[in-house]
Amino acid sequence: TIDTLEVSLGDRAYDIKIGSGLIAQAGGLIKPVLRQPSAVVVTDENLAAQHLPALEASLTDAGIAHRSLVLPAGEATKSFAKLEEVIDRLLEGGIERGTTLVALGGGVIGDLTGFAAAVTLRGLDFIQIPTTLLAQVDSSVGGKTGINTARGKNLVGSFHQPRLVLADMDVLETLPQREFLAGYAEVVKYGLINDPVFFTWLEEKGPALIAGDRDLRREAVLVSCRAKADIVAQDEREAGLRALLNLGHTFGHAFEAEAGYGGGLIHGEAVALGMVMAFDLSVEMGFCPPDDAARVRAHLQACGLPVALTAIGGNARTGAGWNSATLVSHMMRDKKVSEGRITFVLARGIGKAFLERDVELERVDALLKTSL
Ligand code: NAD
Ligand code: ZN
Repeated sequence: TIDTLEVSLGDRAYDIKIGSGLIAQAGGLIKPVLRQPSAVVVTDENLAAQHLPALEASLTDAGIAHRSLVLPAGEATKSFAKLEEVIDRLLEGGIERGTTLVALGGGVIGDLTGFAAAVTLRGLDFIQIPTTLLAQVDSSVGGKTGINTARGKNLVGSFHQPRLVLADMDVLETLPQREFLAGYAEVVKYGLINDPVFFTWLEEKGPALIAGDRDLRREAVLVSCRAKADIVAQDEREAGLRALLNLGHTFGHAFEAEAGYGGGLIHGEAVALGMVMAFDLSVEMGFCPPDDAARVRAHLQACGLPVALTAIGGNARTGAGWNSATLVSHMMRDKKVSEGRITFVLARGIGKAFLERDVELERVDALLKTSL
């Protein structure tokens, strides 16, 4: 079975297809949305080894002319240098306006390819084939694209919506377990934002889903994509509501920045810990019942995600312990800070997230200290 979700954004709409065997059928699924039967696949070396041949075969079968660009795997690929390389190789190969880029990979490939599509010839169409759980439930939906700079992550980019998203459950089989779990943290996030029934379902089904049950995975990806698509449809440019998707991320980004990207902590792990802290802060400020925060912590911990800074050891970058003041200063440099105030996503309980700008940094500092 293939589930289809429509994402509608004013005058534009596109489908997210979720199911098994989608890469093998990709040519046929993609063809109807192509402006002309030509595509350039952008991927990384891990995917090139494992899933690119099947995609290429299916494009050939569907009569779509194609070539592939293979980049190094890892966050460092989201750079000006690699963007330039991709654009250069696109132009060198004689690209036309009607050519479609196909991103086969995780969030790194999706963000870079989407941005290359946004700016090359002032805008090419692109298609997402997300291959990590994180990319399937988060980065491939919503149209944010971009790269990192020496001054920070995701500071250069644009909104550019894909023409189609194909989330194939089969590719997740080759995803390292640690990457899968990191993506699972973002799945849990949707329950915590506004879907308590989904969170309860995850408490029950999470272990089997993580162990590999494909139907449960498909269901979780579907619910997550629908949640994100609904929020994005209401607030494409993040004027307000969309900021709820940052639950756990203000803390999480600070942990990542401090640990050094590609270091001892990957994004979803930082978000898991960040969500625990956001709930603790909500309890601390009198918004959230302690039992709800305890459930959040218990579920993430049971799944094997980190729920305390101590659990992830020292700071991998400095080799030293964590420092609460440094973490707070990272939060102050977040893109979401305005007029010197951090917007925190807090919760009145599971499934009741809200935005709060009135948080004293002393409180945040004190909370961080209790987790060191
Ligand atoms: P990633 O793209 O680096 O992939 C993680 C690793 O898994 C890589 O080594 C990759 O080669 C490998 N891999 C991917 N799919 C595989 C598969 N099926 N089998 C085997 N190996 C596979 O990381 P990610 O977690 O997918 O994405 C992280 C990026 O996404 C970050 O740069 C983040 O900023 C971005 N992001 C963007 C948005 C957005 O809205 N655009 C949202 C969330 C995150
Ligand atoms: Zn995230």
